[in-house]
Amino acid sequence: MKDKPEKLIVKGKRLDGRKMDELRPIKIEVGVLKRADGSCYMELGENKVMAAVYGPREVHPRHLQEATKAIIRYRYNMASFSVEERKRPGPDRRSVEISKVSRDAIEPVIIKECFPKAAVDIFVEVLQADAGTRTAGINAASVALADAGIPMKGLVSSCAVGKIDGQIVLDPMKEEDNYGEADMPIAMVMPDKITLLQMDGCFTQDEFKQAFELAKKGCEQIYEMQRQALIEKYGVEGK
Ligand code: ADP
Repeated sequence: MKDKPEKLIVKGKRLDGRKMDELRPIKIEVGVLKRADGSCYMELGENKVMAAVYGPREVHPRHLQEATKAIIRYRYNMASFSVEERKRPGPDRRSVEISKVSRDAIEPVIIKECFPKAAVDIFVEVLQADAGTRTAGINAASVALADAGIPMKGLVSSCAVGKIDGQIVLDPMKEEDNYGEADMPIAMVMPDKITLLQMDGCFTQDEFKQAFELAKKGCEQIYEMQRQALIEKYGVEGK
């Protein structure tokens, strides 16, 4: 890990040149995997994630089936080459937690009653990590679900806010996440439904309000990009 820089904000700019309320560059590609029912590749700055959706499909083992609706399964996994020092392959406490909160963030938009007894499986593979992988994963998963044609009430959009050198910033990158004072990922469904809110570190109440508003603005921008990516693949809405 790099040593702590003396300052994370220099002459009003962040170390990667961004303004306080600026997202990292985003790239979204829809339908990149042939064998998945839906897929999405997303870059959020230096994060690279792939989401694949399989389903609706039969549930195994069968005792997990629900008679009136589909079950949603979400697996977040970090490739061992995704971080500076090789990560031990396989699930760990962090990935189990992220899989759970990500599923909870996505599940409310899926109209599960359309597929009784079935499962929708969502896989998120982090190929390169630079802080914000759970948010990138949720964004990609949501687009991959749309690509798979799973009926949804809306798209889920997600981004984090942080506090560095006492200032609230949008979408912290790795150094800001490591050495910042707070980090708060959220996920939302436009216009105002929050499906994920986590926080570590410390905000005053006023800072929390400011951070929350900034995170919502970030999600709105990401939502627009998710929508555009789907329109590019499938044509103009409603046509
Ligand atoms: P998120 O990626 O959603 O921000 P965290 O806050 O837990 O999740 O992690 C921040 C960043 O720390 C990750 O994006 C990754 O760059 C790094 N990181 C997480 N786990 C590991 C690990 N096991 N080894 C090395 N780096 C890690």
